[in-house]
Amino acid sequence: MKFTPARPAIHGETLDSLTAHLAAQGQPVFRAGQILDWLYKKRAVAWEEMTNLPHDLRAWLAASFELAPTAFVLDRQSSDETDKLLLELGDRSLIETVIIRAPMLGVGVDKSRKTICISTQVGCAMGCKFCASGLEGLKRNLTAGEIVHQLIQVCRQEDTRTPRARAELASFDNIVVMGMGEPLHNYDAVVRALTIVNAGWGLGFGARRITLSTSGLVPRIRQLAGEPLGIRLAVSLHGATDAVREQIMPVNKRYPLAELLPAVREFAAKKGRMVTLEFILIEEINDTFDQAEKLCDIALDLHAHVNLIPYNTVEGLPWKRPSLTRQVKFADILAGAGVSVTLRREKGHDIAAACGQLRLQTEKTRTAAAPA
Ligand code: SAH
Ligand code: SF4
Repeated sequence: MKFTPARPAIHGETLDSLTAHLAAQGQPVFRAGQILDWLYKKRAVAWEEMTNLPHDLRAWLAASFELAPTAFVLDRQSSDETDKLLLELGDRSLIETVIIRAPMLGVGVDKSRKTICISTQVGCAMGCKFCASGLEGLKRNLTAGEIVHQLIQVCRQEDTRTPRARAELASFDNIVVMGMGEPLHNYDAVVRALTIVNAGWGLGFGARRITLSTSGLVPRIRQLAGEPLGIRLAVSLHGATDAVREQIMPVNKRYPLAELLPAVREFAAKKGRMVTLEFILIEEINDTFDQAEKLCDIALDLHAHVNLIPYNTVEGLPWKRPSLTRQVKFADILAGAGVSVTLRREKGHDIAAACGQLRLQTEKTRTAAAPA
């Protein structure tokens, strides 16, 4: 599902593509670097700010590219240090970008681990049964520029918290591609966007601090392993057997565990990095002793880290989160078997931080408010 905006976002251009556009206009090669500097180092909000560019070039840029492909709608702050930015795209679609601040114990209040979670699609086609993002299917792919611009919006939002110092993206510890959408279902735009985020001429954010999460599109995992981009991979497993996984993730019918796990192994081997297996704990679905044991086998075999995520309930869906005792018991089985495991502490539940929920609520309000 390709979306073609009236004007492409400038934030979706690479050094090469921008240089080529400018060369076609008879502009010297160094102009591309100047423009990227305005976008990513100086974070310009208007073409007129780019004062070292000739006036006619600025006019051409304004006519050819979008400088603000996303617009800030609201920032819903949660008591547990999560900020959820709701952004509107050119076609009025809504996406979510989340800032998660986890205080680091014992190092004082100032020191916290800051993670940004970005979206890659409006909605999602994968139809996982527990997920709010997939409830209404896929509306469209985000463009590379829309993906990158979420990070510019995050920096601007941080600026409002630190009025005297400009917030730099480098002050964040991690970027996770775990917002709305299946990133590998929008492969080209996502790889292009992450290349821009990582590049020295772009946002310059270390690839090792970027994690992409996928529901398991096997051929794309293999393709990603062949990219020069050294990002980390997380796989949404959520079931340690085909029977359980298939019940909640339709993608498992297309790519069952016998195909998925070797692709994950190949990624880890090629990149020399430990892969993370995400496992949402859902009561009486996948929180059994048997699932824990089978998950141990998979994780040990792949030398993977397991991230257990207590399920966030979604309005209208029947799934429940197991009790804390049960969550801990599940984690203990893994730890006892020698698996590297973390049990995620609750983040953002009170602001509907689970994948796609804020957007869904806002869409509903909009529909209710719209004139008949
Ligand atoms: N589509 C990708 C990335 C976005 S979802 C993927 O599925 O991996 C990011 C993570 O949030 C996934 O592990 C997903 O399974 C999980 N998730 C979705 N809905 C959730 C919910 N209600 N509670 C907890 N985790 C959820
Ligand atoms: Fe899509 Fe991920 Fe939600 Fe599944 S969990 S529907 S792949 S966003």
